[in-house]
Amino acid sequence: MRYQRILLKLSGEALMGDGAYGISPSMIQFVAQEIKTVHQQGVQMGLVIGAGNIFRGVAGAAGGMNRAVADNMGMLATVLNALAMQDGLERAGVPCRVLSAIAMQNVCESYTRAAALEHLEQGRVVIFAAGTGNPYFTTDTGGVLRALEIGADVMMKATRVDGVYDRDPEKDRNAVRFDRLSYTKVLHDQLRVMDAAGISLARDNNLPVLVFNMKKEGNIARAAAGEQVGTLIVA
Ligand code: UDP
Repeated sequence: MRYQRILLKLSGEALMGDGAYGISPSMIQFVAQEIKTVHQQGVQMGLVIGAGNIFRGVAGAAGGMNRAVADNMGMLATVLNALAMQDGLERAGVPCRVLSAIAMQNVCESYTRAAALEHLEQGRVVIFAAGTGNPYFTTDTGGVLRALEIGADVMMKATRVDGVYDRDPEKDRNAVRFDRLSYTKVLHDQLRVMDAAGISLARDNNLPVLVFNMKKEGNIARAAAGEQVGTLIVA
């Protein structure tokens, strides 16, 4: 395996499957199996899950809500996804803990870096819930932050397309995929990889970001093994 410790970022939408909202049990099962394959190779895995399948703060704010309140709702929605994923992983036989950036001790542990490292070293998958714990951030930035804190070799951002393209590949069939990109090009060309805060944080700390298609069976394992999958963003 090329990577020994991975932070995998899943969007909330990745858990919807073919539905238009919420959590698809078959997607949870699929993702759990994909993670299990990599985990069985001895790779330490942290997960950050978004909440676009349930609630996003910007949508609430667009409807007139206070942004900070709406973002708190978004962060709580990531906990729903984290618990569903934890359940799926444990049913697949993968030991797993949820660590939340917002304390809710009856439901899961609170995030501390020390606890995360301890669980990873004990062979447990760690799901980092509630993003960064602060409004006005995204779970992509939360993913980069946690990846840096745990010393992950890479942050893998799972999407529904095969990587980063010069145009939207779902709208333009002539769109060209990049194998490799620099952080600066992503920022300068405003390529839709993740928000600028997240990509800047990755750049400032030299964290490689791999954007790849998680819907293809075996892709997480291929990426973890270092095969050419998706787009790698580096200095
Ligand atoms: N969020 C937040 N702070 C964070 C991470 C997330 O306030 O550190 C909120 C924000 O409202 C966001 C929502 O949680 O819209 C869900 O996260 P995100 O939009 O990143 O989910 P994804 O697009 O990955 O499904």
